[in-house]
Amino acid sequence: MLTSSPERISISNKSTIDMNKKTIQELIADGFFKLFSKTIWLKKFQSNSRQDGAFGRSDDLMNVISINEDIPTDNQEETLLHEVIHLIDANLGLKLTEEQTQGLSVGFYDFLRSNGLMD
Ligand SMILES: [Zn+2]
Repeated sequence: MLTSSPERISISNKSTIDMNKKTIQELIADGFFKLFSKTIWLKKFQSNSRQDGAFGRSDDLMNVISINEDIPTDNQEETLLHEVIHLIDANLGLKLTEEQTQGLSVGFYDFLRSNGLMD
């Protein structure tokens, strides 16, 4: 039996496809995502366009995350997680150090990859 709603298509009682589910690469391609009810804009930059050569950058005032498009896909995904943790930190006033932010992003990335929650 096939039933549908705006968010889900249920093929049977046991199988549900969540039509809103997307990969991190699709999220990056979309160019925006939601965090704490805010729209965060995703931009890409090239290595030679920045003096510091960073993988990514977050701006919690403008709600923008910038990702270096010249780095491998895996690094872009981990960089996105890293920058999201910076925005969570800024929004909640956690005062995380760069080392703590790096540790959390590496840990979450491994958790998501190791358990099939992310390609
Ligand atoms: Zn950082």
